[in-house]
Amino acid sequence: MTKEEALKTYFGYDAFRGGQEPVIDALLSGRDAMGIMPTGAGKSVCYQIPALLLPGITLVISPLVSLMRDQVTQLVQMGVPAAYLNSTLTFKQYLLALERARAGRYKIIYVAPERLETEGFQSFAQAADISLVAVDEAHCISQWGQDFRPSYLNIPAFVEGLLRRPPVGAFTATATPEVQEDIARLLSLRNPLRITTGFNRENLYFEVRQPSDKRAALLELVRSRPGKCGIVYCSTRKAVEEVCALLRERGVSATRYHAGLEPEERQRNQEDFLYDRALVMVSTNAFGMGIDKSDVRYVIHYNMPKDLESYYQEAGRAGRDGLPSSCILLFSGQDVRTGEFLITHGEPREELDAKTAELLRERDLQRLRRMTAYCRTQRCLRQYLLQYFGEFASDYCGACYNCLHNFEEVDVSREAQIIVRCVAELGQHFGVGVVAETLCGADTEKIRKFHMEREPSYGLLKDLTQVQVRERIRFLLDTGTLQLSSGPYPVVLLGKPLSADTPLLMRVAREESSFAKRRPPEEL
Ligand code: ADP
Ligand code: ZN
Repeated sequence: MTKEEALKTYFGYDAFRGGQEPVIDALLSGRDAMGIMPTGAGKSVCYQIPALLLPGITLVISPLVSLMRDQVTQLVQMGVPAAYLNSTLTFKQYLLALERARAGRYKIIYVAPERLETEGFQSFAQAADISLVAVDEAHCISQWGQDFRPSYLNIPAFVEGLLRRPPVGAFTATATPEVQEDIARLLSLRNPLRITTGFNRENLYFEVRQPSDKRAALLELVRSRPGKCGIVYCSTRKAVEEVCALLRERGVSATRYHAGLEPEERQRNQEDFLYDRALVMVSTNAFGMGIDKSDVRYVIHYNMPKDLESYYQEAGRAGRDGLPSSCILLFSGQDVRTGEFLITHGEPREELDAKTAELLRERDLQRLRRMTAYCRTQRCLRQYLLQYFGEFASDYCGACYNCLHNFEEVDVSREAQIIVRCVAELGQHFGVGVVAETLCGADTEKIRKFHMEREPSYGLLKDLTQVQVRERIRFLLDTGTLQLSSGPYPVVLLGKPLSADTPLLMRVAREESSFAKRRPPEEL
């Protein structure tokens, strides 16, 4: 069976999603791989298909007990013999499962990391034909990660102890470059193929506001979206109560969710939101795990979360149906101080020694700083987020507040014609500097030496600075309208002709474009 056939036969899908194929190919060829993909991108297929195609057993190491059960149920329904070994099994059930595993009855075995160290499991694994080890939630091995699990540190020794070292696939939805390094190093991956994909959500619009009055800003945001369904995240239960009361007071059908409510009420409120009896859910970060409501049109953060992983995960609950949706963060300096306080004064987890606890604190502070920098940056917000997760992104998305407000596209067709004319007049003999000086009407030694002031195009762009003219020349070089000769003193050459009817749009910083617009039009 080929991997395409396996995808079709077992999963019913016709094509792989971005990133799946290279990871599958690597694992099938015996190479280690790292798949960094957001939740829902399809990481399981990346190790389940190799598991089906490879001759031996695949071990999937996962910390999530409920996820294991779901996946195993699903696999068994698909006709794949699978089992899980974790703390939810009674000792008898566990022994039975191990016995069956020894008898070669399973193709895929999910196992909790703590189980790897138990003697029964080790003796099974060392004798078994294991073709692949998949490590799910691989960020758990890193202290930089969100939920560090010391038992993950035992995985490499376990793998090395196997009969033949199988390829190892590591998967996670959240991995900053630091965490990626940790995963590769701590899991002792061998020259792993790294694939980071799918973090971009094109239909989401990002914005950060720093309002003097958050309550007023929130009301305005919610009321300007009547009939639309949204989530408002707050950092504390108290804030949830206040914000929910405020919205209700103003006639918004809002409900709330936090860990301090009775389970019955939580359940009821969640269902009210899911079935559209309440349009707005005000909640702490306790809400959303496993909630799949596809038509959430906006996610507003009333407070800044503690890190970008949390932010992107929560914001990402907007627009699951692919329709345009907004992710807006209401930022204040107080959020930073609260975040710092929680990190420096929070109770460390009891299983950690003092040194580790201190290290984690320092790392949490750094993550908070990256989160704060997101709130303050003038750069493209999408680029900031994607780069944080290690994915390449252009510096202009055109669909975030910063792109739409700090930059705009202006029509530079007229300037382009003038520049092209100047290059032609100068006989394609001069570099970018002289062309820009001529156009700006500069009075420099070179200009005087070559009598550029006699050229008809001399000073035609004198309303622009030389930097601005150079930027336009560079833009024309990028678009191929102009070319540079090679050699130590490159001169500007004419390239492909300008089109007469399509406007030439160039992205410029906003202040500059308003300056450009103020300039009276000039005829050529
Ligand atoms: P993750 O583990 O990354 O959160 P899953 O493996 O649970 O994601 O996959 C999310 C959903 O996408 C599942 O319903 C899965 O069946 C589906 N899926 C995975 N791969 C494909 C594919 N190539 N084409 C269509 N759907 C896919
Ligand atoms: Zn942008």
